[in-house]
Amino acid sequence: MNLAIALVHYPIYNRKGEVGCTNVTNFDLHDLARLARTYGLHHYYVIHPYQSQRDMVTRIHQYWTEGLGSKLNPDRKEAMDLLVVLASLGEAIQHVTNSYGRAPWLVYTDARSLFPPLTFQRLRRMLKTRKAPCLLIFGSGWGIQREEIRRGNYFLQPIVTSSNYNHLSVRSAASIILDRLLGER
Ligand code: SAM
Repeated sequence: MNLAIALVHYPIYNRKGEVGCTNVTNFDLHDLARLARTYGLHHYYVIHPYQSQRDMVTRIHQYWTEGLGSKLNPDRKEAMDLLVVLASLGEAIQHVTNSYGRAPWLVYTDARSLFPPLTFQRLRRMLKTRKAPCLLIFGSGWGIQREEIRRGNYFLQPIVTSSNYNHLSVRSAASIILDRLLGER
């Protein structure tokens, strides 16, 4: 599958609309790695600019891929093997380029209709027809800074429901999106 996902922790809005960093959540590591493995993705990038946060992710990753966790739960090892922790999106783009031999095109997500959107249907088709890999980028906190999203190639249509409540966790949002893109029809 020529698709990888990234979870970014900077530049992210906080509840006041200020831009900063969020902390890594352990559930995001496991659940998005299991999601990536389930849909046959190549990699799941966890991106954080702080070395201390990356060190924490590395310790968790090592436990489940090399340590006792890998023995106790080989299925979880298989998922966590897809996880790569990096300092920046630029490093993730380089990693994808090295892995696939082509640079990825970037698709950002957000809960709000920030830019003219790429529909799920069109992205499904592009994933089937394009040779270059896609890097689908998810945020944390109150969403990725708009200027950062503008740097991408595409902005994916947000998940919208008939209710006026729109506060999905990134784990839920990523699950819904990946199934709309790759799930059985
Ligand atoms: N209020 C934030 C927002 O508007 O995106 C919620 C952020 S949510 C905790 C973290 C990430 O989940 C978002 O950056 C986005 O990647 C994804 N996400 C959450 N709700 C979404 C939706 N309705 N459609 C698409 N992506 C969504």
